[in-house]
Amino acid sequence: MSSRSTFALVTGAARGIGKAIAIKLAADGYHVLINYRSNDAEAEKTIAQIVENGGVASLLKFNVSDREEVTRVLGGWLEQHPDSVIEVLINNAGIRNDNLLMWMEPADWDGVIDTNLTGMYNVTKTLINQMLLNRYGRIVNIVSLSGLKGVAGQMNYSAAKAGVIGATKALAQEVGKRGITVNAVAPGYIKTDMTQDINEKEAKVMIPANRFGEPEEVAELVSFLASRKASYITAEVISINGGLYS
Ligand code: NDP
Repeated sequence: MSSRSTFALVTGAARGIGKAIAIKLAADGYHVLINYRSNDAEAEKTIAQIVENGGVASLLKFNVSDREEVTRVLGGWLEQHPDSVIEVLINNAGIRNDNLLMWMEPADWDGVIDTNLTGMYNVTKTLINQMLLNRYGRIVNIVSLSGLKGVAGQMNYSAAKAGVIGATKALAQEVGKRGITVNAVAPGYIKTDMTQDINEKEAKVMIPANRFGEPEEVAELVSFLASRKASYITAEVISINGGLYS
């Protein structure tokens, strides 16, 4: 159990996988900072569920891809809370915008790279100094099977997630001596708004577990990697995909 003044920031935590992670980390004892981009109603629901379970959470709304906004809101939060420590960072905010390259417009490329890859840089860069000074930290980046295997129609998304995997391994080497671990979790198909357009009945035939995963199953793995128990695991990419790809 962590103390209540110890914070965990989960980006993209209003819905889906981020929401399940936020709920789990609050149950683990963290004061969870719930980041999201625009969906106030869903963010409020996430907080309500955490409070109902006896946890503590606050909202921290900013667009991870907007560097100025990250500095103003997240950097501002750090200045306003000089005695608080963000021990855990879960870079989960992500979008997909699929198309074959022949139809992929520059905006579709930029948007996916800016959110999934540059967003991770913007947020991690803002928090890393405090973790280094504190000589402790847990960073978990949510990537994807697409970033390991490459998926047709997802050149932008596969590139962004593969980029985060490279960044995970590089940063782990930079900060390992300071007690900070950096890992990536690569989900396959998980039941969220992001996969609503995919037919589970058709897609599950390829999955040994014969179903899509639940956000809560991803949250259990992230909770472990974010805990002190996972102290000797770093620079790893751990898949959670029901056996779809290994
Ligand atoms: P959802 O679409 O269900 O939720 C995405 C969350 O991210 C929302 O809370 C959204 O905010 C937030 N978000 C999106 N863009 C930004 C931004 N620019 N700044 C801040 N927050 C943002 O997605 P999932 O839960 O399915 O996905 C979570 C992560 O898991 C993503 O990184 C995704 O790529 C990855 N993933 C998902 C898989 C799946 O099968 N679902 C498989 C593999 C990886 P708001 O609510 O305000 O819109």
